[in-house]
Amino acid sequence: MSSQNADSLVEVKAVNKHYGALHVLKDIELNVAKGEVVVVIGPSGSGKSTLCRTINRLETIDDGEIRVDGKVLPQEGKELARLRAEVGMVFQAFNLFAHKTILENVTLGPIKVKGLSKSEAEQEAMALLERVGVAQQAAKLPAQLSGGQQQRVAIARALAMKPKVMLFDEPTSALDPEMINEVLDVMVGLAKDGMTMIVVTHEMGFARKAADRVVFMADGQIIEDATPEEFFNNPKSTRAKDFLSKIL
Ligand code: ADP
Ligand code: MG
Repeated sequence: MSSQNADSLVEVKAVNKHYGALHVLKDIELNVAKGEVVVVIGPSGSGKSTLCRTINRLETIDDGEIRVDGKVLPQEGKELARLRAEVGMVFQAFNLFAHKTILENVTLGPIKVKGLSKSEAEQEAMALLERVGVAQQAAKLPAQLSGGQQQRVAIARALAMKPKVMLFDEPTSALDPEMINEVLDVMVGLAKDGMTMIVVTHEMGFARKAADRVVFMADGQIIEDATPEEFFNNPKSTRAKDFLSKIL
């Protein structure tokens, strides 16, 4: 079960959120320890994306508390931008800046938010592009890359901010099947390097390989929080059993 201790890097406590009458997050409790990889799964509409978005304040919460490395994110302002940089986010749609080169996509944040010089930022960016296997494409525009390559650039761009935790929201769902593994391989590598990660995905192979815990959400609630072995071999709730029978 979730560990409540001094090593918690992400702490979500009694969080509720509504969209109008829709109660989209219901008393969510989630602690993610430093270096831990948590995979979040569940049916469409269960609140997985909303949970991710609240963690870096892309969405507000009604009540409860979210801390990253002990700090509550402020609602707005410069401090928010600085603290938000500690949470890297990778979305289903790669969201690269279409009119900037791959290299510029990765250097922009470090120059603007972290105040790095162009040459420092470029040096770090090239090392990251190397790490995700797209250094050859640095001078190109996003549209000249495959979806898998663009998503790997999006990962490099998030890493360039030196985040303490990386959130992935269905990072391979928009990809052609043959490109899924090249992105998952980068994520497995990150996990092995000790990155703290929260990953919303339906890729159960990834969950089995890389997750320390699987969190199952349905209807805005966390229904199960277990190791991959426990969850896949012995899901406790009917809803998790139903869900697994549909996707496995
Ligand atoms: P998931 O990622 O698990 O598919 P979401 O977090 O995207 O679920 O959505 C949870 C619920 O909240 C859904 O019913 C969705 O329609 C609703 N929802 C999501 N975003 C908004 C929004 N900006 N305004 C109103 N309703 C929303
Ligand atoms: Mg979603």
